[in-house]
Amino acid sequence: MNIARNIAQIKSEIPSTVELVAVSKTKPNEDLMEAYHAGQRIFGENKIQEMTDKWEALPKDIEWHMVGHVQTNKVKYMAPYVSMVHAVHKMKLLKEINKRAKQEGRVIDCLLQMKIAEEDSKYGMSSQEITDFLADERLKNYTHVNIRGLMGMATFTDDKEQIRREFSQLQNLYRELKTKHNFDVLSMGMTGDYQIAIEHGSTMIRIGSKIFGARD
Ligand SMILES: *Cc1c(COP(=O)(O)O)cnc(C)c1O
Repeated sequence: MNIARNIAQIKSEIPSTVELVAVSKTKPNEDLMEAYHAGQRIFGENKIQEMTDKWEALPKDIEWHMVGHVQTNKVKYMAPYVSMVHAVHKMKLLKEINKRAKQEGRVIDCLLQMKIAEEDSKYGMSSQEITDFLADERLKNYTHVNIRGLMGMATFTDDKEQIRREFSQLQNLYRELKTKHNFDVLSMGMTGDYQIAIEHGSTMIRIGSKIFGARD
């Protein structure tokens, strides 16, 4: 695996306005440092303990994104440093992120996760639930979180039409809400589907295996 070359290749294929999150879960610090030396500064992880260990060991100008499902009782461990939480799926979680960010004197960027995939294993809210979430009065009190947009994961399938349909749903909701809520981030697209995601307006892709190689 030539990590620097992989990053350069992906960057050459995507518009310069699309942000690349290097999803480094399960990979050793040396691999992250190879990406770092190639200029990569945004890394995504899906387990808080692993992300915290990496944050402690690696350069402090890295931006850490939590891309996976978050348990409310673990938010406190990442509150001192996490820059974006991609998969907020309920108010109780946002409330806890706000509380812990406030204790740290920080504001943490968040995205609301929409469930677009068929798989039951994937979390997220429906478009109606997201609309209701954004209308909730409690949000006004949560001054230590900044909801910057939406995130979603398509079904893991070779059926490109299905992936297109799923990303379109998310794109439509994003367009509907963008102006009113000042959104600027639409996080969608992984190794297998990022080109389709970009065709559907993604502003942030989360790439793991195409940069670091397959995970065990
Ligand atoms: C693992 C993961 C990715 C990256 O997946 P690849 O297919 O390896 O690019 C992206 N997003 C989330 C939420 C993930 O858990």
